[in-house]
Amino acid sequence: MSELLEIQNLSSGYNGKDVLQDISLSVGKGEVLGIIGQNGSGKSTLLKTIARIITDNAGNVFFAGVELNNKNTWDLKQLGLSWFVQGGMVFPTMKVSEHFEFTLKGKSKSESAHIKENCISFFPALASCMDKRGGNLSGGQRQMLSFAMLLSQKTQCWLLDEPTAGLAPEAVKDAVDFLNKMKEQENKTMILVEHNYQVAFELADKIAVIKDGKIYNSFQKTEFLKENFLNKHLYN
Ligand code: ADP
Repeated sequence: MSELLEIQNLSSGYNGKDVLQDISLSVGKGEVLGIIGQNGSGKSTLLKTIARIITDNAGNVFFAGVELNNKNTWDLKQLGLSWFVQGGMVFPTMKVSEHFEFTLKGKSKSESAHIKENCISFFPALASCMDKRGGNLSGGQRQMLSFAMLLSQKTQCWLLDEPTAGLAPEAVKDAVDFLNKMKEQENKTMILVEHNYQVAFELADKIAVIKDGKIYNSFQKTEFLKENFLNKHLYN
């Protein structure tokens, strides 16, 4: 598997103070890397640094061989990298239809129609709420719209910050099914930050554990599916 995303000796943080220290990781094309660790350990900071939301960093991130240090978030989308922000991608005052218009801006009419149709084929229930505003959607509908917005970007690599946070168990299952489908059918590459270990273990090919801004440990799927893995490696 060739490496699509390479993170080399990355350090970053806020107001001149490092939160992440010397992180090196790589993700192959079509691979899912799960990132787990306690609250405040630096997981979101890692995704925000890759996504160029935080730009005060040392070290390098390469995506498809391109160095990202001088890129902005728009460049990243063009290169094929999307960031799924914690809490989803829904604007409370915008109608569902306007979310599609916004995200498909600049594309031709026929391409927009094709992408929208593809999104609706994954989330048919969205078709009947086109006139609803984001703030009036149920949790499940918000999740569908968030994933539809992500899908509509047609990027090959997704940085997912807690995509199941705050969802009811049934919606968590739907999210896992959708992401599994994206992995199996569309060969999407993902870095998945998850507080729900079960979700991370189900989707990831490998796991990195972050503690106090550093890589504490990393595991391949064969290891973390073993019995008593959690007790042995994460809870002490
Ligand atoms: P996690 O995603 O693992 O819960 P975060 O990456 O959100 O952790 O946070 C790591 C550390 O960075 C925490 O100590 C947190 O308080 C701090 N932090 C997060 N966001 C900011 C910010 N905008 N400004 C200053 N410190 C922040």
